[in-house]
Amino acid sequence: MAQTYSAHPSDFIRDIIEEDLKTNKHQGRVATRFPPEPNGYLHIGHAKSVCLNFGIAAQYGGTCNLRLDDTDPSGESQEYVDAIIRDVKWLGFDWADRLYHASDYYEQLYQYALQLIGMGKAYVCSLSADEMRESRGTLTAPGRESPYRNRSVTENLDLFERMRAREFEEGTHVLRAKIDMASPNITMRDPVIYRIKKETHYRTGDKWCIYPMYDFAHCLSDFLEKITHSICTLEFENNRPLYDWFLEALKVENRPQQIEFARLNLSFTVLSKRKLIELVEKGIVGGWDDPQMPTLAGMRRRGFTPEAIRDFCERIGVAKNDSLIDMALLENCVREDLNERAPRVMAVLRPLRVVIDNYPEDQVEDFDCPYHPQNSEMGSRKAPFSRTLYIEQDDFLEHPPKKFFRLAPGREVRLRYGYFIRCISVVKDPDTKEIIEVHCTYDPETRSGFAPDGRKVDATIHWVSAAHSIPAEVRLYDRLFCVADPLEGGADFAEHLNPKALEILRGCRLEPSLTDAVPGSRFQFERTGYFCVDAVDSSDNVLIFNRTVTLRDSWAKIAKKGK
Ligand code: ATP
Ligand code: MG
Repeated sequence: MAQTYSAHPSDFIRDIIEEDLKTNKHQGRVATRFPPEPNGYLHIGHAKSVCLNFGIAAQYGGTCNLRLDDTDPSGESQEYVDAIIRDVKWLGFDWADRLYHASDYYEQLYQYALQLIGMGKAYVCSLSADEMRESRGTLTAPGRESPYRNRSVTENLDLFERMRAREFEEGTHVLRAKIDMASPNITMRDPVIYRIKKETHYRTGDKWCIYPMYDFAHCLSDFLEKITHSICTLEFENNRPLYDWFLEALKVENRPQQIEFARLNLSFTVLSKRKLIELVEKGIVGGWDDPQMPTLAGMRRRGFTPEAIRDFCERIGVAKNDSLIDMALLENCVREDLNERAPRVMAVLRPLRVVIDNYPEDQVEDFDCPYHPQNSEMGSRKAPFSRTLYIEQDDFLEHPPKKFFRLAPGREVRLRYGYFIRCISVVKDPDTKEIIEVHCTYDPETRSGFAPDGRKVDATIHWVSAAHSIPAEVRLYDRLFCVADPLEGGADFAEHLNPKALEILRGCRLEPSLTDAVPGSRFQFERTGYFCVDAVDSSDNVLIFNRTVTLRDSWAKIAKKGK
């Protein structure tokens, strides 16, 4: 019976897979892999690939392997492996016992290289790197054959074995595939398969001093793991003939098929490991898990949920042409998810003291405040109300302009979950003339939030009781760059860093229910945004919250104004 897979909207990759299943191309199997190189942390672009590979495997009853593509000792480390594992798990995917390392295949890959040499399809080339580059030709001119191209099989085998035996220095010899120096596809002009690198590998130590190149290692790792669909990003399109060439030359059966899709580019950030490393190494950010980073570790620390990221990856879909996705889309996904799941609480970020003159000095009332306006199952907490409160500085103006509806002298507003208050007077610092205290009266009849005489107020503001509130540091994160495409024009991308990417507020006051908020827990601070307890710097001594995202897209307005 024909099976249908309608759980997921189709795309060109799923179309290929369904066609292959129909024609029984891989005996009905679907096996994918996610193959990061452990030379950096995963970013949101990787998440697209993770969701695609694991998502396809789940949808078609197949498998997806996690493979560390660790064939270059420079820059790779176990720290990165651990971070990758943590992040893929956090995103919600499971590779069961199929965690692999390309470095586990070194011996087998070496044997394949010997086979190619034996067949006269690979040779040891002793040109210098410069000479090799120079003889490769250009897009319009063919390359020149290496003078070493016709070394005998015996000589090649001998040299290659001695390369492995550490007899030669780096750069003296490489192993190259013998394909076609005149190929219009430069990738096919006798590409390097192995080079000498006398660096210690984080897993194999000094066992090897020759390392396979990506193109050689990748297709054969796929083959060894019986991958059916090897999904990668578009920049490898030109490498596909080489991918196929190795598998063809080695006459392996059940060949995996490489399929390319467009990588994720996201506005107002950079998604290249090289650039991200630069941000870390230059100290522009605090590390790979800095909440400003588009890494999964950074986004997790900032308060993003795996659900929001998976939803984002679904919505952007997969296509064959490059595009720049708007950061606002990602922010909206997290907003929508947190809107459902984040408990509402009151936090005053920039406190202004309010004294309610007609409220008894020693009286405290506990207001019952639901955690979610639409979801009563989330329960409620008590918010203590007393004579002295804090409100946001922004919610009061001594000389309000026309459209300011919040608190001002003579003006009445509603306190969230409670009374109406009216401003009577202000107290100013005698030196700075800054308003340090606002005096109000309250109407005891408005406890329900409504006035029995039916009079209305124009605003409801949040507050905390001064004596009961707890202090906190709040880190207001915003976009890392202030232009959509920081890499455009080849300028130094650091010039476009957003000076307001992080604002730290100390002395914020939170409602007391947050006393025991656990690291990583997420809340909506009413009227302000979504926030998450920083899992790294927060401690019993200082409570630190990171702003995940504001309640509304504040950039949309800025973008409009700019036009
Ligand atoms: P970068 O360009 O950031 O250095 P990379 O491609 O070198 O990334 P890998 O560790 O090799 O990083 O990537 C592992 C997998 O993730 C690859 O299959 C790659 O195609 C995919 N991937 C990397 N970046 C993106 C992206 N921006 N969008 C979609 N997939 C990506
Ligand atoms: Mg790569």
